[in-house]
Amino acid sequence: MAELTDEISKRRAFAIIAHPDAGKTTLTEKLLLYGGAIHLAGHVRAKKDRKSTKSDFMALEQERGISVSTAALQFNYEGHVMNLLDTPGHQDFSEDTYRTLMAVDSAIMLLDASRGVEPQTIKLFKICRERNLPIITFINKMDMPALEAFELLDNVEKVLGISAVPLVWPMGSGRDFKGYFDLYGKKLHRFERTTGGAHRAPEALSGIEDPQVRELMGEAEHDKFCEDVAIAGEALPAFDKEKFLRGEMTPVLFGSAVTNFGVEHLLANLTDLAPAPRPIVLDNGETLKPDENRFTGFVFKMQANMNKLHRDRVAFLRVTSGKFERGMSVNVPRLGKEVKLANPVAFFGQERTTIDTAYPGDIIGIISPGLYRLGDILCEGNPPTFHPLPRFAPDVYARIVLTDTGKTKQFRKGITELADEGVVQLFNLTEQTPLIGVIGQLQFDVFKYRLEDEYGAPVRLEPLPFECSRWISKEDAEKAGRFDKIVYDELGNPVLLFESQFRLRSFQEQNPDVVLHMHPIVI
Ligand code: GDP
Repeated sequence: MAELTDEISKRRAFAIIAHPDAGKTTLTEKLLLYGGAIHLAGHVRAKKDRKSTKSDFMALEQERGISVSTAALQFNYEGHVMNLLDTPGHQDFSEDTYRTLMAVDSAIMLLDASRGVEPQTIKLFKICRERNLPIITFINKMDMPALEAFELLDNVEKVLGISAVPLVWPMGSGRDFKGYFDLYGKKLHRFERTTGGAHRAPEALSGIEDPQVRELMGEAEHDKFCEDVAIAGEALPAFDKEKFLRGEMTPVLFGSAVTNFGVEHLLANLTDLAPAPRPIVLDNGETLKPDENRFTGFVFKMQANMNKLHRDRVAFLRVTSGKFERGMSVNVPRLGKEVKLANPVAFFGQERTTIDTAYPGDIIGIISPGLYRLGDILCEGNPPTFHPLPRFAPDVYARIVLTDTGKTKQFRKGITELADEGVVQLFNLTEQTPLIGVIGQLQFDVFKYRLEDEYGAPVRLEPLPFECSRWISKEDAEKAGRFDKIVYDELGNPVLLFESQFRLRSFQEQNPDVVLHMHPIVI
């Protein structure tokens, strides 16, 4: 028990939320550099010629220059075990991202200092807010022309409605960005660049009044800096850890991932401030404590064919309580049976290693021959009563037509595997040309590409004129009129499709006794 509690207190499971191009990949790599997981940084270039950062593992990612899949990376920092879950950055990937954010205990919100809060930041922030996730803000690219620090804080507060409290105050910006003053540690941190940001940036500590600093900045600049630091220290609210843990206040750091300025401070704050795994409130009002003496976890991601040579499928599991040991047998309540977890693995990009033990906050990959589904709970003893992953009603639909009829077997395998992965939702599976629904148009491209590339099944997608859908009960399905379009999901639950939000509303007005559900009714 003491071992379990100790291991839990060391764990930090977090994700980085950012608008594309804010520097998420760069920061990920720098966190790994400072965590000692890699020894030389500098692979991250502009997306179009990006070849190999550790979390990019799909050909499609490189071709399209977007992040498609979620990887979990583990590294150590100052006695802590850091689990970084990579959220896909593209705006169309909200469901996948949502699921990843269900599996973390805190998030880093990464902003571009010249842009502040951007559209995708808002979307991702809202998901974190729903879960009251504690968020640390890192304002990146301070080495480029940036907005004023006060303006950036104001932007976060106004647009996101969260109190933004600086922990440090930046010293200059653009080419003159030299470091920052730690408002709580009362020390000035000055950094030096290294070639290409490949190594840790040397850091010098001093007082704010250091004559060398005054000389470096010039008198006028130094006076203004001291004045701003005084205002930031006195006029802005002080950091309140409880508010941060409730998701009401975000501590703000300034830095530059490319030059490594501020990366170490960010890590230190993650270990000091961000929470270790916390209890989960169950549907019956009880709590599932991470240090409970039985293992539980849930599948938050499925990934097929991570490595083309292996041609396998991996279920990613977030450990929520107890100790996981290789070879243990666990219940899968959905299947009503026990399975032995013989070959759990951890991933570092393309590389994989076998895991012998894991603790709450850790992510393990389980290579599965089609056994698991998204949202599955794996546990010792009775299943805890919670639905970790709601599914969402898709907003784009198409009929899938196999264009090479000799590939029926591959086609069937491909569509079910990609549906289990959460890439698409399938409807009317028993028919020759099933339907798929996705959230965001781009998922169609991902689906079509992967079906052809990984399964060798070429398809044509015929878009359907539906924009929204709702799950209904089987009894209500009988009440629907003959002009209403009803399809059936993979579990046989009826789903009503509508051409527009307007149609949906008028259906509801005409059929007030039919209950429309955003998520499947029973899983
Ligand atoms: P992502 O889309 O959020 O993963 O962003 P990337 O990490 O790919 O970064 C986008 C671009 O911004 C790349 O060209 C990076 O080199 C650049 N970049 C990232 N961080 C910084 C930074 O701190 N300063 C500057 N000047 N450029 C950066």
